Amino acid sequence: MSFTLHGLGVSGGIAIGRALLMSHATLEVSHLTVGPRMVDKEIARFDQAVATVKKELAMMKESTEHAPAELSAFIDIHTMFLEDPELIDKPRAIIRARRCNAEWALVQQMEHLVQQFEQFDDPYLRERKLDVRQVVERVIKELLGHPSRAVMKAGKGLKEETLIVVAHDLSPADVISFKEHRFASFITDVGGATSHTAILARSMAIPSVVGLENGRSLIRDGEAMIVDGQRGVVIVNPDERVLEEYQLRKNQIELEDTKLKRLKSAKSQTIDGIEVQLHANIELPVDIPEALEGGAEGVGLFRTEFLFLDRGDMPDEQEQYEAYKKVVKGMGGRPVTIRTFDLGNDKDLRPDSSFGDRVKTNPALGRRAIRLSLAEPQMFQTQLRAILRASKHGQIKLLIPMLAHAHEIDQTLAAIEQAKSSLRGEKIVFDENIQVGGMIEIPAAALAIGLFLRRLDFLSIGTNDLIQYTLAIDRSDEQVASLYDPLHPAVLMLLAHTIASAEKVGIPVSVCGEMAGDPKLTRLFLGMGLRTFSMHPSQILKVKNRVLKADIGELAPNVRRMLRLEEPGKLREALEKLNA
Ligand code: PEP
Ligand code: MG
Repeated sequence: MSFTLHGLGVSGGIAIGRALLMSHATLEVSHLTVGPRMVDKEIARFDQAVATVKKELAMMKESTEHAPAELSAFIDIHTMFLEDPELIDKPRAIIRARRCNAEWALVQQMEHLVQQFEQFDDPYLRERKLDVRQVVERVIKELLGHPSRAVMKAGKGLKEETLIVVAHDLSPADVISFKEHRFASFITDVGGATSHTAILARSMAIPSVVGLENGRSLIRDGEAMIVDGQRGVVIVNPDERVLEEYQLRKNQIELEDTKLKRLKSAKSQTIDGIEVQLHANIELPVDIPEALEGGAEGVGLFRTEFLFLDRGDMPDEQEQYEAYKKVVKGMGGRPVTIRTFDLGNDKDLRPDSSFGDRVKTNPALGRRAIRLSLAEPQMFQTQLRAILRASKHGQIKLLIPMLAHAHEIDQTLAAIEQAKSSLRGEKIVFDENIQVGGMIEIPAAALAIGLFLRRLDFLSIGTNDLIQYTLAIDRSDEQVASLYDPLHPAVLMLLAHTIASAEKVGIPVSVCGEMAGDPKLTRLFLGMGLRTFSMHPSQILKVKNRVLKADIGELAPNVRRMLRLEEPGKLREALEKLNA
């Protein structure tokens, strides 16, 4: 039966393929395939679970010191099994050889051992199969409590490129590991259009829809599907006619994208000769080729927290340095703006990591981003030193997320000075004049912009959070997504005020939130005075196309008039006229 679901389109284009249901933390053990680069992580996850269970057993033994001897013996047997290479080394080998998930590998080996025990004549030894099962169950529960990331069902015989991942929810950490795969699309029941999950979909340029509410329970594995990432529509089991229609639209979109590629080397300037910088937002060093392919003149936002979101620990200074250096060198002399960690909110680490429990209730308003960095001076120093060390390889700018207070800026600048001074002490070379900028993404910052202009070298407006905090709309909550309005007059006022204030004192300002990559807003921003945009690589040529056709002299007065409007209907009408 064919049916249609509606959600929020987060990434343009059309995908036609088959459903691949993704599940998390269920008690049934699925057979999943892990990507080649995830094998070591999967083994580490297995080892971690075994170590935790062993620790639990040791604690149990301690607390049952005066309990009956049988209980103590039973704990001893379980502990012994956890040290038996048959139960520990074999699953590791299975994970490596078959590239499967730890749960499945462990259960395979358990079945094998249970069969062996069943063949014993001695009833005592035969009974031990129950102990094997119990101890395996403990490890499985531990593993399922920390579900593995980036796994897909195996044995379907379908190419990744034709698979549409269907999930109830996907964390940014899940999606970041999709970069290793080539899925056609993904759809989720929850999530808003500027949640980090959606942002990652855009960064991978695959059509996706979030906020479908019931997709995961209505769609079955292997069902044929169409995902329209622009309109937020998902069609399950489409008939021939619908399929043909969408195939045609898909081809048209691909044709338009091919045409846009011709603009790659065109100079990004308006008809009246005003140069406009178009930069890329990236999450990982592997995004660099796509940024260059899109014609990016620099990296305007490197979201460094994604470097370790799908792992349990923080990269040390050397590992961070290598990653930053890779990006700077990869960009071949073009400027690279590295944002310090914006952890917290929806960007949590794995629950078993040392940082997993630090984000309290109301995470968007909690100890997030710079607040967390200032509260963890050691972590902050490690990152600052790594960024500074990488600055000798090219043009790096430092960007600080979520600033609201003057004292936060002052403390941050002092922390940077401390990192510089420690490097000087060790005679390590870095860019002494590295520029430091701040994200303007809290309304208080936009309103009291003078504090920022006096202390910082440049500004970058994060519209995703600015909208969230101005309108009190959780950006990752699909239930209030219809109220998340980039064209709300209050949002436009804050944007115009920030851009004009920075321009007045000659401080460079860019926009790096999702609004910057929306071609329908390019003319509006140009009219406000914006000259630097940072967006997903896949959007750059679409925005450049608008820049090339814009005449700022002509559109600026129209934008000024538009900004005086307050009625939403009138504002939308004015925007349509501006783009006509
Ligand atoms: C923003 O808030 O607009 C932004 C660019 O940062 P992030 O999306 O990572 O919060
Ligand atoms: Mg932000």
